Amino acid sequence: MIFALTIPEDEIIRQSQHSNNTPILLILGNPYAQIRFVKELNHMNNLRDTKVCNLCGSHKYKELHYYPPNYYNHTNFETYSWDGNMDMDLKIVKCSNCKLVYQNPCFNSNGLKFLYPTEIIPDILDYENLLHNHKFHYLLGIIDKFYPHPNTNNYTMLDFGTRYGVLPELLFNKGFKAFGLELNKKCVSAALKSGFKNIHQGTIDNLGEISNELKINRINLAVLVDVIEHLLNPMEELKKIAKFQDTGDRMIITTMNINSLGYKLFKSYWYYIHAQHTYYFSEKTLARLFNKLGYEVECVFQVDKIKNLTIFHKELVKWLKHKIERIKYRNDKNLKKKLWFATNRPSLFDIFTIVVRKKH
Ligand SMILES: [Zn+2]
Repeated sequence: MIFALTIPEDEIIRQSQHSNNTPILLILGNPYAQIRFVKELNHMNNLRDTKVCNLCGSHKYKELHYYPPNYYNHTNFETYSWDGNMDMDLKIVKCSNCKLVYQNPCFNSNGLKFLYPTEIIPDILDYENLLHNHKFHYLLGIIDKFYPHPNTNNYTMLDFGTRYGVLPELLFNKGFKAFGLELNKKCVSAALKSGFKNIHQGTIDNLGEISNELKINRINLAVLVDVIEHLLNPMEELKKIAKFQDTGDRMIITTMNINSLGYKLFKSYWYYIHAQHTYYFSEKTLARLFNKLGYEVECVFQVDKIKNLTIFHKELVKWLKHKIERIKYRNDKNLKKKLWFATNRPSLFDIFTIVVRKKH
């Protein structure tokens, strides 16, 4: 692809991002501008990869949503999870063969750090408060169905992306051999200092070393809450967990549902679409992925559709506000404080939890 200088800078960057081909630059005039261009383009291109479908390997897809650079004006909006505050475009596609929805081009491990800025983690946590005011009641109810008290002692469970280790702590107290893995070292050290006993630093990628350290050779129950939609290669990463499971062992996965009512209503404005989210599963695509890994779906849980009525009005108002504000603040130079881009992006109860069981 060849661009001439008559094309404005931002248009060149936009085109290169949209096509994800590295363009050949033909720039006449200021050599410093040329160097800056090349640097900028290399920098941006190294942050993302073009993907084939993770589920079926097809390279054919249909574009579902395309958000050009500066979709949110960077003078007025804080957008680190949208585009790493870097004024990049975002494209969400659907595999033409198996219907898996994913980000393409997709941020890679170089790019991801811009999407997760260092947050302030307290040195010490309120152990009692975290154990009593947690978000896992729903999940504990599901786990109780499959592992009724008191027959939990023989089961080893691992919670991936555990943050402070609240879930493994709760399950340890119910008798499980429970462990939590967290990538963020600060979360792990704060949790250990504050009394959480079952948390370890690591990710799916170093599960091999961690299992040696913890003397685990079988994971009866693997839990991934709000994790799978952030993975760079779900098929390969889940395969690594599957190696530690035998027939009858389970995984419980919670993620947002691209086939939900919220997505169908709000489409490109849906709260869950942003660059931190690399994969957008439905019950069908997630079931297909697990079937390939040798699992069968035992149960799918979702919030009753009728409950959506309780928040529908509020979310509809947010949707309208969002549409107005994004346009209104496109050129407004008088705004004193940046707005969070997603404040008014709407969603309903668009989360589902799937329980899968290993067949062989
Ligand atoms: Zn596919």
